[in-house]
Amino acid sequence: MTDRVSLLRNEIQKGYTEGRIGHFTCTYPPHKVYSEITEDFDVRKVWADAGSDSESISLYFHVPFCKQRCSFCNLFMVTESHGAGLIDRYVDCLVREIEMYEPILAPCIGKHTTLYFGGGTPSVLSPKQLGRILGALNPLTSRSQVVEFTIEVAPETATFDYLAALRELGVTRVSLGVQSVDELEVRHFARQHTRAHVISLIEASMNLGFSTTNVDLIYGLASQTLPGWRKTLLAVLEHSPQCLSIYPLNVKPLTSLARPRSNGESSEADRPLFYSMYDSAVEILEAAGYEQQTRTLFFRGTDRYLNKANEAVGHPVKGFGAGAQSYAPHWHYRPGNSYRNAMTHLEAYISDTEASRFPARYAYKLNTEELQRRQIALSIRYKQFPLEPFKQCFGAGPEELFPDEFDALRQEALIDIRPSEILLTKKGLRYDNLVSTLFFSNRVRELLSEHQPARWSVERKHPTGR
Ligand code: SF4
Repeated sequence: MTDRVSLLRNEIQKGYTEGRIGHFTCTYPPHKVYSEITEDFDVRKVWADAGSDSESISLYFHVPFCKQRCSFCNLFMVTESHGAGLIDRYVDCLVREIEMYEPILAPCIGKHTTLYFGGGTPSVLSPKQLGRILGALNPLTSRSQVVEFTIEVAPETATFDYLAALRELGVTRVSLGVQSVDELEVRHFARQHTRAHVISLIEASMNLGFSTTNVDLIYGLASQTLPGWRKTLLAVLEHSPQCLSIYPLNVKPLTSLARPRSNGESSEADRPLFYSMYDSAVEILEAAGYEQQTRTLFFRGTDRYLNKANEAVGHPVKGFGAGAQSYAPHWHYRPGNSYRNAMTHLEAYISDTEASRFPARYAYKLNTEELQRRQIALSIRYKQFPLEPFKQCFGAGPEELFPDEFDALRQEALIDIRPSEILLTKKGLRYDNLVSTLFFSNRVRELLSEHQPARWSVERKHPTGR
């Protein structure tokens, strides 16, 4: 074993014993490493070599308004009480941004695309407002080119009629941000839905015939018990949604759950309970006929969640909106980068777009090695990582480019390498964040270590004023 392989194995072994179940690596590099753009940043050049028929561009729309801030959330959003008066104006800005990008993206968008409305809470938009945004896309892509159209729906904002209107608009995938059906847990998460309403929405979504109804659930709240978690899963499974996404609770700085509690205890369950909840979910979902595709994603049947799968193999993403990230071939960028100053960033986005300036403030440039690392870090979270797309992009297999990392992972029994694919073992799925972060570059690691997360102090006021 080389010195480097043993160092990498040490890093993995340290990860088994430290901290709670791993956080979700949703992209690479994390946006914390972006820096302010300089004057030579030119979106036309950034998109000049993007897209092809086989690597079509996905379109993402960020809607930063929510009824209230959930206790675990540090995403870029403003509460409805602060931002309600801005929603129509924001929709106008999304339309304007689409029009500004149309000549840049039209030549390279590709034959098939996916649409994703995320947030925030996109379901605060009325069907009419959503229709306006979709209408603005007509010169860029026709409805028949859209192979997947997802919208995130917060249960407290939706009804049967609302879901029916989404179906009319062409939505194919409804992602219900349920988190829990236990009403005490729902209150801990600072959400307002009832169990009966959630169940009626899952039923409605299934009856309306969306290709995929996804239900998001969270486990690992200190007050949650293993039997309670199993009960939540079984209650949702009774209605057989096509997809379940289960996320470990991750208490992030400056969220309500990160506030020091009077009894000094953490809001998170302890580590063994986290893993028992994960193992129990895998067992229940497999017994119910679901296929595990990543640590968090379970499908009934063999469908794929195209938006994320395409991103993992390097398809570009153009994000529209105040907090949307865009992933062009060599540049990642976004207009706003922080939830702490969300209103300021939202206003800056509005004033830039209204003045026909391309909204972009923070960016990171990826060289070829970073692109290789990204594709591995995102693809290897899937139970099956097909090697052909990677080889076509980079002319060599991932194990040829990063032999020490793959040796370390194989020796730790986290992966199984086959001629045409890399498989995550059961242990690999359990520790997918350790597998994925092994491919973070030294530069990204340094930038992450320099990033100082803000912490609550006793006298600090909550940024939302609560
Ligand atoms: S978790 Fe979603 S719904 Fe809750 S505050 Fe954050 S963005 Fe809004």
